[in-house]
Amino acid sequence: MVVIIGGGISGLSAAFRISQLKPGLKITILESSPRVGGWIASTRYEDGTIFEHGPRTLRPVGESGAATLGLVEALGLQDKVMSVSKWHPSAKNRLIYANGELHRLPSSISSVFKKMQPFRKPLYYAGLRDIFAKRGPMGDESMHSFVKRRFGPDVAEYLIDPLVRGICAGDCREISVNFLLKDLKETEMKSRSIMLSTAKKLFMKKKSEEKKSKPELARKAEHEGWSVWSLQGGLETLTDSMVDHLCNNGAEIKYDTKITSIELQGKKARIKMESGEEIETEQLISAIPAISLAPLLKKSHPGVSKILQDIKCVTVGLANFEYAGKDLLQMDAFGFLVPSSQDLSVLGVVFDTCSFPQGDKTILTVMYGGHRYQPTTPIELEEICKFSLSKTLGINEEPHRKSVQILKDCIPQYTVGHNGRVNAIDEIISKESLPIIVTGASYKGVSVNDCVLNGIRSAENLLAR
Ligand SMILES: Cc1cc2nc3c(=O)[nH]c(=O)nc-3n(C[C@H](O)[C@H](O)[C@H](O)COP(=O)(O)OP(=O)(O)OC[C@H]3O[C@@H](n4cnc5c(N)ncnc54)[C@H](O)[C@@H]3O)c2cc1C
Repeated sequence: MVVIIGGGISGLSAAFRISQLKPGLKITILESSPRVGGWIASTRYEDGTIFEHGPRTLRPVGESGAATLGLVEALGLQDKVMSVSKWHPSAKNRLIYANGELHRLPSSISSVFKKMQPFRKPLYYAGLRDIFAKRGPMGDESMHSFVKRRFGPDVAEYLIDPLVRGICAGDCREISVNFLLKDLKETEMKSRSIMLSTAKKLFMKKKSEEKKSKPELARKAEHEGWSVWSLQGGLETLTDSMVDHLCNNGAEIKYDTKITSIELQGKKARIKMESGEEIETEQLISAIPAISLAPLLKKSHPGVSKILQDIKCVTVGLANFEYAGKDLLQMDAFGFLVPSSQDLSVLGVVFDTCSFPQGDKTILTVMYGGHRYQPTTPIELEEICKFSLSKTLGINEEPHRKSVQILKDCIPQYTVGHNGRVNAIDEIISKESLPIIVTGASYKGVSVNDCVLNGIRSAENLLAR
């Protein structure tokens, strides 16, 4: 029997892969809450309106992008895919809020040669700076220090800082360069110019990628030039469909089942639940956040537990607002991000209905907190979010419908030294032959695509043991 702890997209992906590779092998998913899906959560109202409270768009590119599209295909959800092309305004218009105004980020080659606010010089200067930049330290460093050294302070402040806040709600002064720029850091160690070397590599990669086999849907995405995609009914359609598939194939999902400790002895893992029940297995996958796994292993494996504990998460306040009329915004765009240097406390705003229209209405999602989260009540959070919409978009009217939530510890932070911590965990597990595999957003990528790919890999590793 395979036991998977955690029914988020990571745990479900692992379970799904096992059911594909070994049909008939008993799978049990232990989930502490009354639902599965983890941070993937879509509210579907009776009139058809959808609010996404977690992830909302997925990118189709790379190995992980193809893994999720392969999953969609295997579940027969192709007809439910909604894609946004690279040429759509929401793909081309990505905004930042700086110095009291919204600015478009450069989105074409020609825009790199123009001076665009808030950058003090055209962006091609950053490329020139890269040619003469000094090589940095051999080991890990923050994204901010790497980008500032190679491409200058403006790129660090107005591109990387808001990007990191948008992706993981983190502070780029603390987040490791390996979080998003691992390839660039490695290139720095080998070549004089990162820009030239990367351009060459991209060309070579494209050629070699063409040869790799890809799911039909990933090829379609490439052919049609998708920028991002989602599913009708929201991304929860994906996890709902995975649950249906798993249950129809004999998997058991135990809801409201909180694990309180795990003992790893010899080849066996003994899992204790809050209810007092216990299960023993030789095949265990943990797909819960590192900070949740740390206390479970504290007694039996204090060494692993201590490293896990250092992979911290941040809390995000999230407000979905629905307004009447689809022409509320002056510009069609994906949304805007707010650099940490600006006097606005939100991380950014997503213009949901620009990417995926929902009839005659405008839906916006405001995100607050992350690395700068200050404990707030939902009422205060709503006021902060409304104030930000008024200041940036001039929206002062009351939303027709709203949902305000505080998502505690929802995004792991890959701070400087993260890869070292993950390698150390993997090493202890492998050296001591511990009967556990860890996967999930805490380790090798926070996007849904990363979670799917790593969930699949964890299943394959488990069965290969
Ligand atoms: C607001 C927000 C917006 C995001 N936007 C995007 C986006 O647009 N695109 C994108 O690609 N990614 C996005 N992400 C990231 C992505 O959604 C997450 O990284 C991913 O969903 C994490 O999945 P997971 O299965 O690893 O973990 P989780 O979703 O955290 O699932 C873990 C599960 O384990 C359960 N659990 C925890 N402890 C225990 C225990 N002791 N016993 C039993 N069960 C337990 C939890 O209840 C949960 O169901 C976003 C995340 C957030 C929070």
